[in-house]
Amino acid sequence: MSGLSIDDLKIQILENIRIVNDYPKKGIKFRDITTLLQHKDLFFALIEALKNRYEKYEIDFVAGIESRGFIFGSPLAYALKKGFVPIRKKGKLPHKVFQKEYLLEYGSDTLEIHQDAFCGVLNPKVLLIDDLIATGGTAKASEELIMQAGGKCVEACFLMDLKMLSQDVNLKTNVFSVLELWD
Ligand code: AMP
Repeated sequence: MSGLSIDDLKIQILENIRIVNDYPKKGIKFRDITTLLQHKDLFFALIEALKNRYEKYEIDFVAGIESRGFIFGSPLAYALKKGFVPIRKKGKLPHKVFQKEYLLEYGSDTLEIHQDAFCGVLNPKVLLIDDLIATGGTAKASEELIMQAGGKCVEACFLMDLKMLSQDVNLKTNVFSVLELWD
């Protein structure tokens, strides 16, 4: 399976994502990636395929959004031999942070990035990664944090894009999704 392109892997990725209905609350169709992660060959092939895509880009850092963005972002950064920057929920990062509040369906949440996340690199170019984009609030806040910390987001990469929810999202950067899901 190793060496396959992202297009070649799409069907297997789709087949290995479990849908959990009404989690974490009624009406939500939760896309559970743990079933994909336990499939060692597919997990490896996915990271390899992403590596093949992004080694053609000029990137200094991969920034992953807590927590599932860490699962894909860390091995990708390692494979690309680039730095990894965590974008975390409020209160989790120990040093000075920039923070961004964003709206959820009910209420709000806050994400943070270390102020010195990209220090030592001039005009840092950053790949943003998460497992899924829905309304885009999380990705938008993360993109703004990357800019605030002095980075330029070169692309936002998601394993899944819930198109019915993400259609009106306007990130400044290009969005790349492995799977575009319409239901
Ligand atoms: P949003 O800000 O609406 O784009 O939500 C994206 C974030 O919420 C991502 O970090 C996802 O991990 C999580 N998320 C939202 N909807 C789902 C879903 N249906 N299944 C799994 N994760 C989800």
